[in-house]
Amino acid sequence: MQTITDLVKVLEEAQALDQAGLTRLLTAPEAIPLYHAADRVRKRYVGDEVHLRGLIEFSNYCRRGCLYCGLRAGNTQIRRYRMTPAEILTRARYAVGQGLKTVVLQSGEDPHYTVEELCDIVRTLKKMDVAVTLSIGERSKDTYAALKEAGADRFLLRIETSNEQLYARMHPGMSYQNRVNCLYTLKELGYETGTGSLVGLPGQTPAMLAADLVFFKALDADMIGIGPFIPSPGTPLDHAAGGEVETVLKMMALARLLMPEINMPATTALSVKDRDGYRKGLSCGANVIMPNMGLSEYKKLYAVYPGKGEGFARSDEQMVKIQTVLQKLGRKVGQGYGFRVGR
Ligand code: SF4
Repeated sequence: MQTITDLVKVLEEAQALDQAGLTRLLTAPEAIPLYHAADRVRKRYVGDEVHLRGLIEFSNYCRRGCLYCGLRAGNTQIRRYRMTPAEILTRARYAVGQGLKTVVLQSGEDPHYTVEELCDIVRTLKKMDVAVTLSIGERSKDTYAALKEAGADRFLLRIETSNEQLYARMHPGMSYQNRVNCLYTLKELGYETGTGSLVGLPGQTPAMLAADLVFFKALDADMIGIGPFIPSPGTPLDHAAGGEVETVLKMMALARLLMPEINMPATTALSVKDRDGYRKGLSCGANVIMPNMGLSEYKKLYAVYPGKGEGFARSDEQMVKIQTVLQKLGRKVGQGYGFRVGR
């Protein structure tokens, strides 16, 4: 039987490994060779730049009922908000003033904003000379096409789990096949397409996580976000155990080795679960951080999980922390738009 070091070597050289091999690496007690290989590959393919994407969470209304999420429609314990287009653009200007070259517009699945309103916002953002990423959930092909036509560059839509049965349990009333179709539609329309996993969902096994990686590779995802499940009050899973940092880091390292050119964030959830999460994520394959550029009064209300909006009331404090982490690691802030290399 191959040793863990041998398996990592095979993966690093071939950029491919079957689900059984991936499962073995996920469950192996020794992770250091895996982390080091991911860091080498990250450096070789995407360099030392860390792209900062300015996140604006513009509405915490959501029509869905994902069991793990604090924004689910059934959660009556949170106060809801919507930013006006003018507020969104003001925060985008702030992000641009901080030197950021990407604005990420994120919300729950909120049908309140019309397609034309969203397109207008995208068009105005593009005049600010930024890349625009959308993270607004499942929409029709026509809507995705209109937003692309308006200038949107990227779209984030995490599958969370590629296991159809687990997906169905976690997402009542939603269709696994529709989510997969949305991802392939986004690719077809020319978006840089991001997806990812929620690690630690109840009933999720290492083999399922390995299958997520196989799914990402088959999709040829451009961006992959992998974070720990953090149980949220007011949800059916509020007493669940949640995800382990080490499993998240192993998943990130494996994603980098399988898909060397992807953009991959050290997620906010990782930094909430572990105070050292940004550093650890950046050392295990990540090359992106998404500082929150929203208004401090809204950050706490975008309560997908507890602690999310509490770390940094002010965006400039978060930027200072990120800069400090980058300096310690000898990494630098990306100066360009941070598109996937080779595109
Ligand atoms: S995960 Fe997204 S779609 Fe699901 S409830 Fe939360 S905000 Fe809504």
